[in-house]
Amino acid sequence: MAERVVSKLKVVTLPDPLARPPAEDPWREFRQVEVIDLKLEFRFRHSLGKYSRFFLELEHRRLMATRCPRCGAVWMPPRPACGNDLVVTEWLELPGRGTLAAATECAYTLTTGGGKDRLVLGYVALEGASTLLLQQIRNYGDPRRLTVGLPVRAVWAEGPVNHPMELFWFEPAD
Ligand SMILES: [Zn+2]
Repeated sequence: MAERVVSKLKVVTLPDPLARPPAEDPWREFRQVEVIDLKLEFRFRHSLGKYSRFFLELEHRRLMATRCPRCGAVWMPPRPACGNDLVVTEWLELPGRGTLAAATECAYTLTTGGGKDRLVLGYVALEGASTLLLQQIRNYGDPRRLTVGLPVRAVWAEGPVNHPMELFWFEPAD
């Protein structure tokens, strides 16, 4: 019979992982499994909304946080409304210097296509910020250098990128 489903890779009958006799296997009628080749592709038109200025200023190599005029909290990443008291915040540029608060190596690369290398993300406490910014850490050499308190600096991409967050990353400052 001709192939009716071109994506079908195989049909297998899987054994009961508990090795029960078939009569005692409650899933015996469900052990035949079809495996298909499935490709998913999504495209989003996504507004960055009230956060847009943060992303737009990255093109000018500026890191924009927001500051609450009431409690003084400096949000980075920015928040249009203060998380403490819901007051509308003001934009504030921060220097691209800070210290590492945490770092981890990720099992997956960026879905935006921005990197095929091993991805290391770190929480960075930028000078003047009350909160931590999650961003890529690159060019750190020995991973054992990635300790809490390591001085880091923002480094800016030279060429075009897919997503605004790929316009910068952090590296050890020395
Ligand atoms: Zn506030």
